[in-house]
Formats: sequence, C-alpha cells, structure tokens
Amino acid sequence: MNTVTRPRILVVGAGFAGVECVRRLERKLSPDEADVTLVTPFAYQLYLPLLPQVASGVLTPQSIAVSLRRSKKYRTRIIPGGAIGVDLKSKVCVIRTITDEIVNEPYDYIVLAPGSITRTFDIPGLTDHAFGMKTLAEAAYIRDHVISQLDLADASQDPVERASRLQFVVVGGGYAGTETAACLQRLTHAAVKRYPRLDPSLIKWHLIDIAPKLMPELGDKLGSSAREILRRRGIEISLGTSIAKAGPEEVTFTDGRGVPTRTLIWTAGVVASPLIATLGAETVKGRLTVAPEMNLPGDDGVFALGDSAAVPDLAKGDGAMCPPTAQHALRQGKHVADNVIASLRGQVMKPYVHKDLGLVVDLGGTDAVSKPLGIELRGLPAQAVARGYHWSALRTNVAKTRVMTNWLLNAVAGDDFVRTGFQARKAARLKDFEYTDAYLTPEQVRAQVEGSGRPE
Ligand SMILES: Cc1cc2nc3c(=O)[nH]c(=O)nc-3n(C[C@H](O)[C@H](O)[C@H](O)COP(=O)(O)OP(=O)(O)OC[C@H]3O[C@@H](n4cnc5c(N)ncnc54)[C@H](O)[C@@H]3O)c2cc1C
Repeated sequence: MNTVTRPRILVVGAGFAGVECVRRLERKLSPDEADVTLVTPFAYQLYLPLLPQVASGVLTPQSIAVSLRRSKKYRTRIIPGGAIGVDLKSKVCVIRTITDEIVNEPYDYIVLAPGSITRTFDIPGLTDHAFGMKTLAEAAYIRDHVISQLDLADASQDPVERASRLQFVVVGGGYAGTETAACLQRLTHAAVKRYPRLDPSLIKWHLIDIAPKLMPELGDKLGSSAREILRRRGIEISLGTSIAKAGPEEVTFTDGRGVPTRTLIWTAGVVASPLIATLGAETVKGRLTVAPEMNLPGDDGVFALGDSAAVPDLAKGDGAMCPPTAQHALRQGKHVADNVIASLRGQVMKPYVHKDLGLVVDLGGTDAVSKPLGIELRGLPAQAVARGYHWSALRTNVAKTRVMTNWLLNAVAGDDFVRTGFQARKAARLKDFEYTDAYLTPEQVRAQVEGSGRPE
C-alpha cells in the first residue's frame, strides 16, 4: 500500500519549459524528497523551431519528436492526457486522459508550462479555413495538403481551379511564418519539375503581415536581406495587410484583393494556452501574471513559465515581459525547477534573468539570416549558425543523429514529394489540431473538483 507523504510536484506540459524543469527536478531531488508527475498529451517533446522543415519534407516528423522515455534515470510518472482545468483553492488539476477519462490530480506544487496556441481574430471564415503551424500533425498535414494541390491541379482541366490550387497564402511575417513560406516555396518549386503538365509560373506564394516590416527584431539591414531572398524566389510580400475574409476557395486581403487559393496558413502570433484562463487568476495578454521568480504571488506552490506566463524580462527592464521563445522557455525551465526546490526546502527563490542571445532564421537551402549576439550574418555562415544552434539544442543524441542524417540525406538525395494520405478527409481546423475546445470554465472546474458535476 502506498502511504506516501512526500510533496507532490505536478508539471503540466512537456515542451521546452516543462521537460527542462522535470529533468532538473529528477537530477536535483532525491527520490524520497518529492514525487514528480508530468501531464502531457504526447509522448515526446516537440522541437517546434524545426516544424517548417517537417512541412517541407527536409526532416521526417519523428526526428523532431524527442522521446520522453529515453533513459532509465527518468523516474517521473507521466500521465498521458491534457490538463483541462486547475482549481487553485483545493490544489487539484483536472485532466482529460488520452482515453477521454476525467481525473482529478491533487498537487502540492504545480508548474504550468502548457505553452501557447495559434492566435486568431474575429475574421469571417478564418478558423474554418486556416491551417496553423504549431503541432507535428499540422506540419505533416500541410505537407500532404500542399502536395495534393499540385496533384489536383495537374489532374484538373479547369484553368480556374488550377490557378486557385497553385496559389498559397501565409499570414504572419514573424520567424514562424517567414520560415514556413520560404521552406514550402522551395518544396513546390522543386516538386513542380515532376509535373510536366503544370506551368511553374502559375505557382504563387504570398506572405502577408499587418506590420510594416518582416521580423522587425532582425533590424533593418538583415530584414531587407531576408525580404530580398524571398522576393528573388518569387514570394510576393504584402506588408500592412491582413485577411478580411477567408473562404474554401478564396481569401480576401484587407487591401481589397481577392486571391483564389485553397491554402491559407495562419501564423500571426500565439496566445497562452486556454488552460491559463481556467485558473481565474490575473493575466497579461492572456499569459499568467507571475513574479520574476515565476511563482504566482499570493498562491503558494504555483509556478508558470514559457509561452503561457508573463515572466518579467529583468534583463530588458522597463516592465517588459519575456518574449514567447524557446530560448527563454528552456532557461526558465531550469530556473523554475531550482525555485520549486528552494521553496520545498525553505530556501530563498531567485528571480529569472536572461539576456536574449539573438535570432536565427532558416530560409531553406543555403539561404538564412542570423543575428547571434548582435552579429549580423547572411547566407552560408548564417545557415551554419542556424542549423548548429538548433542541432545543439536538441535534447538527445538520437534526435541529433536523426536530424543530421535527414539534413545530409536531403542535401544529397532531395525529396520524393510523397503524399502519405494519412490524414486525408479528417477534420483539419485549428481547433482539431490544437484541442482549443477541450477546456473547462472555472465554474466547471470547481464542480468537477467538488464532485458535484461531471463535464461533458
Ligand atoms: C514554427 C515555429 C518556429 C519557431 N522558431 C523559434 C526559434 O527559431 N527560436 C525560438 O526561440 N523560438 C521559436 N519558436 C517559439 C518556441 O517554439 C516557443 O516559444 C516554445 O516552444 C515555448 O516553449 P513552452 O515550453 O512554453 O511551450 P511548448 O514548447 O509549446 O510546449 C508546451 C507543451 O505543453 C503541451 N500542452 C499543451 N496544452 C497542454 C495541456 N492542457 N495539458 C498538458 N500539456 C499541454 C504541449 O503538447 C507541449 O508539449 C517557434 C515556434 C514555432 C511554432
């Protein structure tokens, strides 16, 4: 019989922040000091920055899905499911398992690291017709979808249908959108050579953003280098522009242009996971307000970090909060583990401070722009830094080997542009990939915890 009185630490989310935190807790806490539990819907940590390379077929999906069960030293109990609500008062997290059972998981310490979801706006048709680029399934789906547009355009006798299948729209000029447009344009550019009946000049990629600049964090010179590379490849960039309306066969831009297309990829920013709203606590732009130590002021044992938390950026000052990047999430993961341990042992917690190391943007092939430690790089040196950075940030040697092998294989043998059809005819809206409708309201959480009601 288990008569455990050890403190229970519950970590929600196995992304950059959550996994880093769990691994540090395992290393620094002795097994009889605390029980560590991780809630995660998937059995892997996803290396999101390389998703565009999965969509474009440079990497296989498995190579960026880093196993959570690589070593016997990993003693954390893993609950396969998603947290759908947290009741801070009774210290219970409500979980929907992958078999749809609802369980209440009590905790003494909770570390909230569920990341973010695609940010959408109230634009007619958007959530029904846009694809995101946040999950492995989305990346794999988009790859198949893009190749299927070539297949269908090739088979079609109708010039109007052909034209709409061969136009592609990416919204969001941040690094996610820019890399996605750049990598997928390379895919269609290379693939169309296998379709002798298709006129390559009909293929058009549009990259649009409401902001006046692409990736403003790159600065003016590097930003215009990136723009130049994309323009040279024929990607039409429209700044100060967004989507007014999205339909199954046409997208209308805010400048009035109607673009016939069956492919709208929406990467216009992220918002914190809907789990945060279930707490009923204070938020900044949807991210949980936390102290510089990443704890929730006034609530013992509650910590939040990564994309889902508004962690003050002390290195920047001026009330800034850390941007939602892997760079911060990773470091916050380690740091929050130290603070949980300090809190458990009655020691003083330390504030999180990290100076941004810069940005790398892989535009495919030998095209890249990078700004490590403020140094501006272009072309091959930038590409070497971008790939070297991502490669070294992959957690396991197996993942490193898979990614390196894939890069080499792709450089030597190229892509075979195979459409797998695994997800054909499946619902493919944002909510189907990101489970945004799975969460409870604070009232439903209370009811579930008090046992007076079972959520549907
Ligand atoms: C295409 C793309 C490119 C990017 N490129 C870069 C880059 O070059 N450099 C950079 O620094 N950052 C980049 N980012 C941003 C970076 O990936 C995120 O900032 C980072 O992943 C945030 O880490 P996190 O741990 O907070 O969240 P994630 O890494 O997203 O992890 C969250 C985890 O929680 C799980 N989860 C979600 N909801 C629940 C729930 N309810 N219950 C349990 N588990 C849950 C998810 O499945 C996931 O495993 C990119 C992002 C994208 C999408």
